[in-house]
Amino acid sequence: MKRTKYTIANWKMNGSKKSVKIIKSFVKYMKKSNYSSSKIIICPPFTLLSNFIKEEPNILYGAQDCHHLDFGAYTGSISALMLKSIGCKYVIVGHSERREYQSESSTDLSKKIDAALRNNLKVIYCIGEKKEQIKKRYSVLNQQIKSLPSKFSHNNIIIAYEPVWAIGTGMTPSILDINEIHLKIRNLLSKKIGKEISNKISILYGGSVNSSNSSDILSLDQVDGALVGGASLKSKDFCKIFDSY
Ligand code: PEP
Repeated sequence: MKRTKYTIANWKMNGSKKSVKIIKSFVKYMKKSNYSSSKIIICPPFTLLSNFIKEEPNILYGAQDCHHLDFGAYTGSISALMLKSIGCKYVIVGHSERREYQSESSTDLSKKIDAALRNNLKVIYCIGEKKEQIKKRYSVLNQQIKSLPSKFSHNNIIIAYEPVWAIGTGMTPSILDINEIHLKIRNLLSKKIGKEISNKISILYGGSVNSSNSSDILSLDQVDGALVGGASLKSKDFCKIFDSY
């Protein structure tokens, strides 16, 4: 089954106006190498999105969060409607840092996913177990999958499997484990939305992907791309990652 591949940069709370230089160097590299093996999506902080979209429109952009309502008295929040209005196409929902530090519950995440889809944003939905949950990994992942709506497709949902213990730590599951976990995630998705759609859903791996391990990870048949944090802030590293399919 041929699925769309994605290389996604999650800049977290990093970057400034000047970082448009990094984006421009990605685009230059992509053009030079006639690169098209994966779709590249950059998710900078909210403050940079609008500027980047104007200054370098030859790339896709995503936000790192959205509110579940379209507007209202919610100081400090940004809605999916607002993101859509500036030309943003994707939004990350359910990142473990937001689950942990903003105490986002599965109900919150369901509402955010609904808001994004209602506003025609595509959702990059993150799931993953904590270190102490490794033994019950699949029940954790299944629980997280329940936040997805009952109907969706490969055109509007991308799954990112990100073991929490691998994010920013330099640790990853073994290559064989990554493939097996992705296959099991696809089976869990299949129970929810059926085999035909689940076979088409892109499931990305995230957690300490870098230019040294990307070829091994991205060559796995069940891995449809990478969600990259730290290594996406350095243009050389990120270019090497999207070059390694
Ligand atoms: C992330 O935050 O989504 C992530 C994968 O981070 P890192 O690549 O730094 O582990």
